[in-house]
Amino acid sequence: MTTISSVLEMQRTADSVRLQGKRIGVVPTMGYLHAGHLSLIRIATQHADVVITTIFVNPLQFAPHEDFTRYPRDIERDSRLAEEAGTDYLFIPEQNEMYSSNHLTYVQTESLAEVLEGKIRPGHFRGVTTVVAKLFNITKPHVAVFGQKDAQQALLIQQMVRDLNFNIELNIAPIVREPDGLAMSSRNVYLNPEERKQSVLLSQSLLMAEKMIVEGERNSQIIKEAVTKLLYSQPLAVIDYVSIADASMLHEIEFLSSGTTALISLAVHFGKTRLIDNTIVRIS
Ligand code: AMP
Repeated sequence: MTTISSVLEMQRTADSVRLQGKRIGVVPTMGYLHAGHLSLIRIATQHADVVITTIFVNPLQFAPHEDFTRYPRDIERDSRLAEEAGTDYLFIPEQNEMYSSNHLTYVQTESLAEVLEGKIRPGHFRGVTTVVAKLFNITKPHVAVFGQKDAQQALLIQQMVRDLNFNIELNIAPIVREPDGLAMSSRNVYLNPEERKQSVLLSQSLLMAEKMIVEGERNSQIIKEAVTKLLYSQPLAVIDYVSIADASMLHEIEFLSSGTTALISLAVHFGKTRLIDNTIVRIS
């Protein structure tokens, strides 16, 4: 595995890989890699000849009060894990090379970016789509792999790729979970033992919602109330949102009629840590 930090060197490398007729797969991450990221890298190896993993904690997608400065970082460990999972090139750019002091151009996907995470974190998705567009232009991939863990982000990137004619195939990988169900996240290290114990409620409440639907419940309000009640059965949970929305445009759904594909998503704080999780349900 070769580590590259210069944008120009990454672009030249990508050009030469393309000239050899090889397919490039990219896995954009913010590092502090866990099994979820590694599953994305492995998927990329199945769809490309050369895999580029990128690590960049993107300041543009953090609000001033968020955790940009304390976001966990461990490049040495990440390098080892990325290589073991099949990365050929690890791209770790410097912040000042990604955003020069006169950076003026941003990519903004409307509507989809304004609900759920975007409503609670204004500007977040503008940062995400901007950095992903830049990473696409730097790594020149044929295929890019993202995680379903960030369901709204995956939708936005699919939309951006269509709208801006990026000639890139997208692959959205399933959520990798801890044995007790907690979705893997770099931020899970923030949780103290008590918060970690209570955080299992996120996946449990999604399972409960799925079970209610399987058993015939079609009223979203009733499901959301049951989820809220379960989450609040633990003293540390503070809910940002519980949403049942259509899985393509993210409009909230009141009644789950047959044929609907619904995205059930949650954002919950445990102490200082904000966790998100989701599941997709197809109503037969
Ligand atoms: P991040 O480093 O958090 O920006 O995530 C980088 C990529 O990994 C994104 O596409 C995420 O959706 C994906 N990802 C993060 N956690 C998981 C997980 N538990 N399972 C699958 N993919 C994940």
